[in-house]
Parts: sequence; structure tokens; C-alpha cells
Amino acid sequence: MTQTLDHKSTLSRLAIDCRGVTKTYGKGESEVVALRGVDIQIGMGELLMLVGPSGCGKTTLISVIAGILDRDGGHCEVFGRDYMKMSSRERTRWRGEMIGFVFQSFNLLPTLTAAENVSVPLLINGMKRSKAVAKAKDVLARVGLGERSKSLPSQLSGGQQQRVAIARALVHEPKLIVCDEPTSALDHDTGHKVMDLFKQVAVGEDRALVVVTHDQRIFSFADRIARMDDGHIESIQDKKDVSTNLHE
Ligand code: ADP
Ligand code: MG
Repeated sequence: MTQTLDHKSTLSRLAIDCRGVTKTYGKGESEVVALRGVDIQIGMGELLMLVGPSGCGKTTLISVIAGILDRDGGHCEVFGRDYMKMSSRERTRWRGEMIGFVFQSFNLLPTLTAAENVSVPLLINGMKRSKAVAKAKDVLARVGLGERSKSLPSQLSGGQQQRVAIARALVHEPKLIVCDEPTSALDHDTGHKVMDLFKQVAVGEDRALVVVTHDQRIFSFADRIARMDDGHIESIQDKKDVSTNLHE
């Protein structure tokens, strides 16, 4: 990481600052307004969970926050930086260092082993292959897949594939981890283990974690829970106010 990035990130107290963010897919009759003006601020050191009904814009919002998708309007700064003001090369490099993303569909590369999949972010950031694979194996062991590092994704169960995807998001110790339903395919104990690991690796005074989830079993890990509906943030609850009957 360059000095400029460190300097910028410590200057800003907010990890994420979104104001009036809009996003529309398609044109004309097929137009879908996914984000209608999203306001959300996420502090350094915070674990924010994002809940809401299917189709309300959760994946779209975290994709904008992770720099995978361009917003149409509004403001969005991540650690004081705006993707729209970066060149595509700078954005790719910055995202590679700073962001870990767990996709809902895992997005593992089918021809690579678990360890090779997990080592991808390290290789992209220039680490030597042998070192990267060793580190990948280490993180796989921490998600309980030490024995499966040589398996291809097709040889793993859904829950195991999900843990490979989680290991890949953690391996380069990014400052922001964004997860789309990271525990959906995991049993209760494994889900808790994974959330513990996220808290260890991803929550620190210069870091943040955003988790889209329907999984009430992990709500207790959140600092705040933001509820989305129809393209905007409807309400945000502090953990102490979160009742056990918070559905969807
Ligand atoms: P959620 O993650 O909360 O289920 P999404 O962000 O995936 O919601 O989707 C928000 C809305 O945008 C939905 O109506 C969805 O159908 C639509 N949408 C999402 N991705 C696309 C896309 N690539 N093209 C067109 N419409 C999309
Ligand atoms: Mg989604």
C-alpha cells in the first residue's frame, strides 16, 4: 500500500459515506430503478448488516460500495476516495488492495483448486506464487478447509465453496470486506466460526465490514443493522435495539 492511501484512510473517520446514491438498470420499458437515493455512513471499526426483501437493492448497493458497479448519481466515498474520480487502472489496483468481496454465487474459478482460488487476490497484488499459495492454505485452515486445499470447486459442497469464497475475501487483509449472504449455505456453528473470523480479520479501527444477510442467527455480530426497502435505507438500528423478531 502506498503512503498516500494510508494517509487518506486515517484522515477520514468514516469508512463509507454514501449520500443520495442512485442506480438504474436498463432503459425504456425494461428500466429498473434499483437505488433511489441511498444515504448511509459507516464508521471505521464498524460491522454493519444490511437486511431487506429480495429485490430492494442490497446487492446493487454493496456493488457500488465495492467499486464493482458505477452509481448513476449521488456521492459515495470509501475511505475518503471516490471511485468515479479514479482511472480504471487506479480503481482496479486500489480495489485489489482495499476491498474483499464475497459474492452470493461464490464466483470461484472452476479450473483452479481451492488454494489457488484463495491466492488470486495475493497474486493480483504482486505476491510470489509459492508465498501466496502458502498463505491461502493458512486461511483455508482457519475456515476449516485445511484438508481441502487441493480440491476443485466442483468437488466441494455448497457450504465448502462458500468458505473458499470467504477465505478469498479475507486473504489479503483488505480494509473493507463486503459480503453478500456469507452464511447462507453454512450450518449454525460454521456460520458463527466464520463471523468470528470476520470480526478478527475485518473489524479494526481502520477497517469496516458490510454484510448483507437474511440470517437472524448472526445478527448478534452486528454493530448496527440497516433495513433497506425499495431502493433506499428505511431505518438503521443499533444492536442494542435489535429485537429478535426482525424479519428479512
Ligand atoms: P437485492 O440484492 O436486494 O435482492 P438487487 O440489488 O439484486 O436486490 O436488485 C435490485 C433491483 O434491480 C431488482 O429489481 C433487480 O431485479 C434489479 N436488477 C439487479 N441487477 C440487475 C441487472 N444486472 N439488470 C437489470 N436489473 C437488475
Ligand atoms: Mg442480492
